[in-house]
Amino acid sequence: MSYISLYRKYRSQNFKEIIGQEHIVRTLQNAILNSRLAHAYLFTGPRGTGKTSTARILAKALNCAKGPGAEPCGVCDNCGKITNGHSVDVIEIDAASNRGIDEIRELRERVVYAPVEGRNKIYIIDEVHMLTSEAFNALLKTLEEPPAHTIFVLATTEPNKVPVTISSRCQRLDFRRITLPQVRQHLSEIAKKEGFTLEEKALDLIARAGEGSMRDSISLLDQVVSFAGNDIKADQVVLLLGAADEELLYSLADAIVRNDIAAAMEKVRLAIEAGASSIQVVRDLVNHFRNLLLCKLGAGESLELTADHINRLTLQAEQFSLERVKAVLTALSRAELDMKWHPYGRIVMEVTLVELMGNNVERSGDRLGQVEKSGDMSRRETLVVVEEDKFARIMNVWKEILNKVKEKSLSGFVSLHEGQPREISGSGKLVICFRKGYAFHKQRLDEAKNKETVELAIKEVLGEDIKVESVVDDAEAAPNAVSIETVKEMFGGKVIS
Ligand SMILES: [Zn+2]
Repeated sequence: MSYISLYRKYRSQNFKEIIGQEHIVRTLQNAILNSRLAHAYLFTGPRGTGKTSTARILAKALNCAKGPGAEPCGVCDNCGKITNGHSVDVIEIDAASNRGIDEIRELRERVVYAPVEGRNKIYIIDEVHMLTSEAFNALLKTLEEPPAHTIFVLATTEPNKVPVTISSRCQRLDFRRITLPQVRQHLSEIAKKEGFTLEEKALDLIARAGEGSMRDSISLLDQVVSFAGNDIKADQVVLLLGAADEELLYSLADAIVRNDIAAAMEKVRLAIEAGASSIQVVRDLVNHFRNLLLCKLGAGESLELTADHINRLTLQAEQFSLERVKAVLTALSRAELDMKWHPYGRIVMEVTLVELMGNNVERSGDRLGQVEKSGDMSRRETLVVVEEDKFARIMNVWKEILNKVKEKSLSGFVSLHEGQPREISGSGKLVICFRKGYAFHKQRLDEAKNKETVELAIKEVLGEDIKVESVVDDAEAAPNAVSIETVKEMFGGKVIS
């Protein structure tokens, strides 16, 4: 038997199973019982909140052999066919992939025919806002004179993109984002039925990652299981999500309170080593400081977090002034935006953190001493500032340096392009890091002529003599790269069902 995704397996099959949309369920059930159904509904709301499932359940309730009633029986032929997508009376059109006039034209031709198996014909048009204006016009003609036996359900995540001529002919029902406790509850029920053990914190991470979309959370659970097996630990979820660990966020915020740059950098390094991407670290940190802000304003209750968690946030928030929290939030949000297009996001993040903590390097001195086991602390501090500065200067013009190298040597450019500037080494060299498996490029860059080309390019662009050193990053684990990318793609808006 082929594998059925958890999302499909646990999709709501009747109104009772719909989560978090009681107001809509009640409206539809009353309409069915009182025979006061509208000809067309507009279901709006974020993705994964149950719009299409509700439309199918409505279709079942209407066409059930034992209906029409407030709930479908779920076992008769009609219910079965609708569940499996085989009913000729329930027509689903995905406007995201069928934007054109042809589908709507076909719809117009067929809409006049009476239902074959059940009492009603139900047209479900998903992501209706994606239709072309031509298709909208054709649809409008149908909505203006709907056949008696036909019900339209138009679903959309972006109601503002649906023409008023269409939406004004529909009864609009707004689906709510599903709350965190509801998602948690449902996920833990699925886990129980499937025999998964799920750490409390892992459950929390998966529930949160869906951001109110049940579908995303369940799909993520599916991914985690295929990645980690039936015994799911929080750190595996962290790895898969590329998310930063909660403890790490607290200690990073602590470091920011103390203006302890070295500690902050160390935490960032740990987060990235644990599998988080730098943009995710910033995103999580933004979220953490938003939580701190709300706790500071006494609005912690709105956070859908456990009482313990809110207490802890409130305690940490007390260490910051309101101004400071706002400043951190502003700077990090800006960094998050910048990182989206910057080729070296980590640098943007690090520079932002350094700027946020000002020049309070004195305080971080001892920690650096511990890390580096370096004798002369004051010298070391100065060095760090200078190096940070030098590195930031290089990164500011890195694209220009790359272009300059390109003018001089194509093979040098290709190699350099595969590497990533990492830091200024103790001996003042710019360290270019290559991923494991890219050692070939490192070797090519190491060839004397290519190295000289790069150093010359730096000198020409920056006006400074900086030597280059290349290393291969052994720490980067290739096997996870694929799953993390997959998850990112999933959360980038692609639907996996
Ligand atoms: Zn039935």
